[in-house]
Amino acid sequence: MKYCSSCGALVTHEIPDGDNRHRHICGACDEIHYKNPNIVVGVIAEWQEKIILCRRAIEPRIGYWTMPSGYLENEESTEEGAQREAEEEAGIDVKMGELLTVINIPQIGQVHMIYLGQLRSPRFQAGIESLEVQLLAEADIPWDQLAFPTVKLALQHFFADRQTGQFKLHSEVLRKPAKPG
Ligand SMILES: [Zn+2]
Repeated sequence: MKYCSSCGALVTHEIPDGDNRHRHICGACDEIHYKNPNIVVGVIAEWQEKIILCRRAIEPRIGYWTMPSGYLENEESTEEGAQREAEEEAGIDVKMGELLTVINIPQIGQVHMIYLGQLRSPRFQAGIESLEVQLLAEADIPWDQLAFPTVKLALQHFFADRQTGQFKLHSEVLRKPAKPG
């Protein structure tokens, strides 16, 4: 950030009084611009043992597969956000279920929250952010064409839990391996 989003003046990057981290601070209006992690919400939506996956029509990872998911918007709950993404990206009507995973990715400032869900009908349609949408059985999941490690992790938990007949909450931290050299 270079200019204050409130008044347009130049900002400085320093530690405010009583804080312990550098923040962007406006010298003109005194606003402190905090930057905090983003929340990504999604749903693994099921219909008769199959689940909905979308092939991404947008970067990053265009052409790769994911469950419907995206950034949480202001004024919505995580569950509402996941339901909205399901409607927007896959054209599906989902009865939302329990939270399956909370995946922290500290290095890129994201927390991914993936819910369970049941389709109310087998209708689906690709939204503008999807190239195609499919209902896939476990045997047909394109494991080597998934968009992100978080997608793979959530799907692994989903199928492992479904096997045991008992879904539980999986909370974890993904850290990128340090770059060699
Ligand atoms: Zn300002």
